[in-house]
Amino acid sequence: MNGKQSIYNLNREDLLKWAKANSISSFYALKIWENLYRNKFRSFSDMSDLKTDIIKLLDANFYFNTLEIKEVQKSNDSTIKFLFKLEDDSLIETVLMEHKFGKSVCVTTQIGCNIGCNFCASGLKPKMRDLKVCEIVSQVLNVQKYLDENLKEQITHIVVMGIGEPFDNYNNLMKFLSIINDDRALAIGSRHITVSTSGLTPQILEFARENIRANLALSLHAPNNELRSKLMRINKVYPIETIFEALQEYIKITNKRVTFEYIMIKNFNDTLQNAKELADLIEPIKKFAYVNLIPYNPVFEVEYERSTDETIKNFFDFLSKHKIRCVMRREHGSDIDAACGQLRSRYIK
Ligand code: SAH
Ligand code: SF4
Repeated sequence: MNGKQSIYNLNREDLLKWAKANSISSFYALKIWENLYRNKFRSFSDMSDLKTDIIKLLDANFYFNTLEIKEVQKSNDSTIKFLFKLEDDSLIETVLMEHKFGKSVCVTTQIGCNIGCNFCASGLKPKMRDLKVCEIVSQVLNVQKYLDENLKEQITHIVVMGIGEPFDNYNNLMKFLSIINDDRALAIGSRHITVSTSGLTPQILEFARENIRANLALSLHAPNNELRSKLMRINKVYPIETIFEALQEYIKITNKRVTFEYIMIKNFNDTLQNAKELADLIEPIKKFAYVNLIPYNPVFEVEYERSTDETIKNFFDFLSKHKIRCVMRREHGSDIDAACGQLRSRYIK
């Protein structure tokens, strides 16, 4: 692109800085910003409220990166999964989910994932690269475009739970959040944004000090180090006690609750003894904890199986009896390739 960068890499502060350096008033810079995110223009020449010399300058410096829709899968529960092709032909997944409270979009942050959890389709292949800010932003814009054209509804929530470890692409993640959260852009409130991590503790502590107070979810999946290390090799670097220390600090700083994701794998982490260990682990931060029990979504290449409904219900009852706030998460799109990275993994061998 002749050294140009995508305009969607910039947050409002960046754009204002660029405008100032090019003697464009903040009045016009804000017009550009709103043309991008409110009026959703996809070319500078459509921005008829700008002077031609500003349009020329924008064209000389920036372009609009595109995502090509390679496949759209619709499930019976109205989950829609998009497979997008990036400009370098890499494939990423973005999922649109319907809830009683609105519509959420699950975005991808990396091409592949280096954390290498052995139950996850995304972790089976090494990370190729981090996504650029514009590539994360474009997922949301493209899904919103699809909604505008088909259902005329707004995205209300964002979950950063697609392919990749968001805290391994931290700066781009935070810039993305600043764009979608901006009240003159998509204005998605921080309480409607959730970032899920495998437990990179330095970034948990950094996240606690950010101005944007998005929600944090931790992929715990096991109540002790022995089991967790079998699933997630990152647990050898950041074991459970280190993560919980960081979470205590996170809670102290933010006063926000933490969601614990726990995938239920048959005969692996689903006994009542495991439920007891989990309850004991969470006890000290119980007021701030919320457990999501997720039925494991079988991945073709992996031998784990999902726990039975009865086992999940017993596990849930045990936690509830011990006053741990807990939900059995409804699966989204279980009839399509819904598990993280599954649709993409059909295309890459
Ligand atoms: N890398 C981050 C965010 C992306 S994964 C993280 O691990 O938290 C989003 C969630 O999907 C994680 O909780 C992950 O453990 C879970 N997940 C991955 N594969 C799954 C599968 N096959 N079935 C159910 N949940 C899965
Ligand atoms: Fe990466 Fe998350 Fe999958 Fe683990 S579960 S491999 S951290 S995407």
